[in-house]
Amino acid sequence: MIQAPKGTFDVLPEDAARRELLEGHARKILGAAGYRRIETPTFEATELFARGVGEATDIVQKEMYTFDDGAGRSLTLRPEGTAPICRAYIEHGMHKLPQPVKLWYLGRYYRAEAPQRGRYRQFSQVGAEAIGSATPETDAELIVLLADLLEAGGVRRTRLHLSSLGTPETRAEYRAELVAYLRAHESLLSDEVATRIDLSPLRAFDATDAGTREVMQAAPKLLDRLAAEDAQHFAAVRALLDDAGVSYELDPTLVRGLDYYTRTVFEFASDALGAQSGVGGGGRYDRLIEQLDGPPTPASGWAAGIERILLAAGAPPPAAELVDLFVALASPDGRRTAFELSRAARRAGLQAQQELGNRSLKGQLRHADRIGARYVAIVGDGASKGVAGGAAGLVSLKNMESGEQRDTTADEVIPTILRGIRP
Ligand code: AMP
Repeated sequence: MIQAPKGTFDVLPEDAARRELLEGHARKILGAAGYRRIETPTFEATELFARGVGEATDIVQKEMYTFDDGAGRSLTLRPEGTAPICRAYIEHGMHKLPQPVKLWYLGRYYRAEAPQRGRYRQFSQVGAEAIGSATPETDAELIVLLADLLEAGGVRRTRLHLSSLGTPETRAEYRAELVAYLRAHESLLSDEVATRIDLSPLRAFDATDAGTREVMQAAPKLLDRLAAEDAQHFAAVRALLDDAGVSYELDPTLVRGLDYYTRTVFEFASDALGAQSGVGGGGRYDRLIEQLDGPPTPASGWAAGIERILLAAGAPPPAAELVDLFVALASPDGRRTAFELSRAARRAGLQAQQELGNRSLKGQLRHADRIGARYVAIVGDGASKGVAGGAAGLVSLKNMESGEQRDTTADEVIPTILRGIRP
């Protein structure tokens, strides 16, 4: 039996309804702030991610679905959305538009990760980018928009982690300082941390053993090393969030999995999730467009996982399907009337279905009941009643709620239902 590939899943109709609802929230919340929808291709030149996400990142090193297009070009299924949008910004000369250019997107992304709850190889992200503004207001606006979206999506128990990464230069100096500090205290560190000092010194902040934790208490923090301008920018972002009543935890160890971040970085986590607790995050990436051969352009943005939002929101009650009309067939004579009537009903704005099986009339009524039809029109019953002439136009209309049933004509069915459901 062929099954869906490991790390992928089917979106069944019940799930699709929840996803559409969430998409509607995104459209409304982001649209109200002037963000416009953009869609980029599912695959891009591999080089875009190598340069845009960072050659040394886990994503580029281990997680990309890369293939040859048969003509010697290397393509990659997009693992994230920001680099492609920057590519589009440059390619379409969007720097000539009024700045910032505010964009949002929703689509599928691909990472060859080890699957677990909330972590898939094909997943969906909704994201927003504001390109062409360096102001702290831009960062704060993006953060409150994500907070609003998560709230609208019903995400429970969220926590916002916030930090600033300053510039890559500050980061490099800080890293060297931290490595030297860890070396000086090496004998007190756990073996695991000690052997990885050069490779990933920041990981030492996450260690749980008493010795390392003690050492890390007094370790230098990147936030204390920011250049004056970066520190001011970060203070302004925080002040705006404070005013907006958005609470956050300063997390000096927040590192994002992509190389391109500068200054503000943030991540919303939900305690309603397990190990994969991140629901969405992002930050400022002032160097990325230039890195992709565009003009120097400050920018900021975020992405949130649709599946994680739905998981963290728990299961809402399934949306009730509304079927206004089911057209049942009493005899084959009514076929054309049934077909026409259901089409006319849909064009009049009703949700209408017709019998598509070969059920008995009794079976059809049972089916109509099961799908929750409010009305059933039984057509093709004319001949048995001995009506001359427009026999096929004679219809018996049953109100499934009251049980009331009366004879009418096909022409009268739609007006009767419209009066009944929207009096
Ligand atoms: P990132 O682009 O890594 O910052 O991810 C942004 C958000 O996308 C995360 O907070 C998750 O909600 C979601 N996400 C990232 N990777 C995956 C994955 N493999 N499966 C499901 N969701 C993911």
